[in-house]
Amino acid sequence: VREMVMDSASSSRPHMVLFPFMSKGHTIPILHLASLLLHRRVAVTIFTTPANRPFISQYLAGSEASIVELPFPEQVAGVPAGVESTDKLPSMSLFPPFAQATKLLQPHFERELENLQPVTCMISDGFLGWTQYSASKFGIPRLVFYGFSSYAMTLSRFVSVNGLLIGPEPDDEPFTVPEFPWIRLTKNDFEPYLRETSGAQTDFLMEMTKSTSESNGLVINSFHEIDSVFLDYWNREFKDPKGWCIGPLCLVEPPMVELQPHEKPAWVQWLDLKLAQGNPVLYVAFGSQADISAEQLQEIATGLEESKANFLWVKRQKESEIGDGFEERVKDRGIVVKEWVDQRQILNHRSVQGFLSHCGWNSVLESICAAVPILAWPMMAEQHLNARNVVEEMKVGLRVETTDGSVRGFVKKEGLEKMVKELMEGEMGKQVREKVKEVAETAKTAMKEGGSSWQTLNLLIDETCNKTS
Ligand code: UDP
Repeated sequence: VREMVMDSASSSRPHMVLFPFMSKGHTIPILHLASLLLHRRVAVTIFTTPANRPFISQYLAGSEASIVELPFPEQVAGVPAGVESTDKLPSMSLFPPFAQATKLLQPHFERELENLQPVTCMISDGFLGWTQYSASKFGIPRLVFYGFSSYAMTLSRFVSVNGLLIGPEPDDEPFTVPEFPWIRLTKNDFEPYLRETSGAQTDFLMEMTKSTSESNGLVINSFHEIDSVFLDYWNREFKDPKGWCIGPLCLVEPPMVELQPHEKPAWVQWLDLKLAQGNPVLYVAFGSQADISAEQLQEIATGLEESKANFLWVKRQKESEIGDGFEERVKDRGIVVKEWVDQRQILNHRSVQGFLSHCGWNSVLESICAAVPILAWPMMAEQHLNARNVVEEMKVGLRVETTDGSVRGFVKKEGLEKMVKELMEGEMGKQVREKVKEVAETAKTAMKEGGSSWQTLNLLIDETCNKTS
């Protein structure tokens, strides 16, 4: 099924095919990238599946992008029927069969690609490694998008290549990384499956690594000014294709439209009220897919309640319920939102002065660009590295305290309460608040005409598109 928002692929302009992975955190930045490319007169076709299409169509409404829908396979073992994105999976333990299921899209993808020719370049998600074989079959250069920073990518690659995750040392024992002597990591900063030598996750990882190594480059949602040390190392030391920093992509969207009071969602009206009262708000959200235990969720609620901070908590539906009476007890200074919000709108609201975040890379960038300091509470994937980047490298945030001091430990209400207070009112909070303003300005400059990311994107288009068109 093909929905042409407008037929742009038929012109003589360079034509890029974009294929985001089916999760919000991977799709949103690709949509921003689509806007940037369209702006530079590149024709864009986005591939997706039926259930993910409305989100994409809404974002691209009025643009010249084309959308092509591929039927998501039905009845794949391990994937609940009707689930076409990872944020709808009941648990992230179902990720391997989900990723496996996407491979069944390949024949449909290739049939559509054939109809779409000429395609000058493909940018597809690293998690859709199989698209490399389609790209090769059609002789289309492919760039890979992971949505990770160079910091996270380079450190992960470094520890794997040098075998730093195997060995008898305890998981929370710090080790240094010779090439970056100021950085101390622990095994706990990496997902346990990186140490496995067989199994579904290992197969997935190996396929992904292989297809990335065969690609023509990596598109990185970050900017030179914070990431160049790591990107330079990647480009110099690893045999992988070159990485290009072209972000932060969250700055691409047009400036927020000022809404009439009655058009604003209830939570934005609540933020307006807090601003009028002069009460700074802590925004609390753990991304679109974190698995949080009922016990941990309870501790978050009590910690927020006892911190006396004003807070807006966006809680995913799949998380368990907070104990009875919580919302009533905190109603003068806290609200819990259980639907999809426009996170950038919240972070850019002047009342929001802190972000308790799982440190998904998009959330980190969105917070930085809004000059909001972060209280880091990483949960999975590369979020532990992002948290180190936030706290130790960029110094734009603090970290919640775990009971055992380990980065994956349980957080008791006291460890949360103490750090919420520190971020919102303490001396360390003040320092990171100042620093984040500085980094926000640097990010904006990078994306502006003539800035580092602006120039890099031009070069990237030149190298991968114009040469072949
Ligand atoms: N997001 C949003 N509204 C929500 C939840 C998430 O706009 O209610 C957006 C958020 O702004 C970010 C993305 O979804 O752009 C989540 O990506 P991130 O890397 O932060 O975390 P993930 O969900 O991938 O763990």
